[in-house]
Amino acid sequence: MEIRAAVLRRAGENFRIERVTLDEPRAGEALVRIVAAGICATDIHVQHQDYWFPLPAVLGHEGAGIVEKVGPGVTAARPGDHVVLAYAYCGCCPACRGGRPFACADYDELNWGGRMADGSARLHRHGRDLAALFGQASFATHAVVGENNLVPVDPDLDLRLLAPLGCGVQTGAGAVLNHFRAGPGAKLAVFGAGAVGLSAVMAAKAAGCSVIVASDLHDHRLALAAELGATHTLDARRADVAAEIARITGGGADFALEASGRADVGRQAADALAAGGKLAYVSAPPALDYSVAAKRRRLTITGIVEGDSVPQVFLPYLIGLYRAGRFPLDRLARFYPFAAINRAVADARGGATVKPILVMPG
Ligand SMILES: [Zn+2]
Ligand SMILES: [Zn+2]
Repeated sequence: MEIRAAVLRRAGENFRIERVTLDEPRAGEALVRIVAAGICATDIHVQHQDYWFPLPAVLGHEGAGIVEKVGPGVTAARPGDHVVLAYAYCGCCPACRGGRPFACADYDELNWGGRMADGSARLHRHGRDLAALFGQASFATHAVVGENNLVPVDPDLDLRLLAPLGCGVQTGAGAVLNHFRAGPGAKLAVFGAGAVGLSAVMAAKAAGCSVIVASDLHDHRLALAAELGATHTLDARRADVAAEIARITGGGADFALEASGRADVGRQAADALAAGGKLAYVSAPPALDYSVAAKRRRLTITGIVEGDSVPQVFLPYLIGLYRAGRFPLDRLARFYPFAAINRAVADARGGATVKPILVMPG
């Protein structure tokens, strides 16, 4: 079928909405009419090839929509189902079988290889294959995805709002709830109050953490962090961020989440921890000597992916919190028409918009 997709042709170029060809879903795949797609920092990194990805490509890995058709053997959803799209995993390696699909043996190939599980492409333009990010390519009116990408959701929910659950939101909330397993009384410091960091703040509040410190460069994001549950906010330009967090927490945080993507901030995050504390980073590894820092202060430092989330289990949990008024997702969102994708990206890069969500026509 012919669809419209935002094509990235070369590194650093704007997205161009073009007519492209999308193949039928094959065995184990579903065709989804995309209703909305969040823009994640990873999409922007890929646009600039900070993270290598084959081009030309269609990006987008926070899609939400309605299943139109399924290929042979699909049991996860049927036509008409409302779905959020999350990352791809194989479902049958030891990690997947053990309930840890975020550590899937084929994670990189399925999410970063640009192709479907069988090695072929579903998107084509002028007779040439287009790579699909996260097996999703949801910056488009339609997508063909593997069934493990599908997370069915109740049809009364606003799919536009749910879209970012598929990556940014589950990454931040999952860091707190799945990775740290932070509970009542825990002390958490969050570095970077974008969509990932603010999702962590909301999750920490829902979990009953007693101290939630948010650090960021933008005043409006810190104000939002405070509204969403941060007990303290810090201007990231302060020289003494780590010392200030040590003072606030009375000796250092139990957990620190580095969500700013900056290696130097990762160092601050390590310095802000109490002995025995845990640091998780979602993109750039912290600039520090791991062996010394981890040994002397008995820190645990881990790069995490998608918040250690099993999307089909964790997204319904977060939706339950949202329904109960304890996870106000809507506060992060700003909607843009699909045609305004490049403006949405610019607003996200400049910091004005926390979570841009593209709304597809029709
Ligand atoms: Zn697997
Ligand atoms: Zn993402």
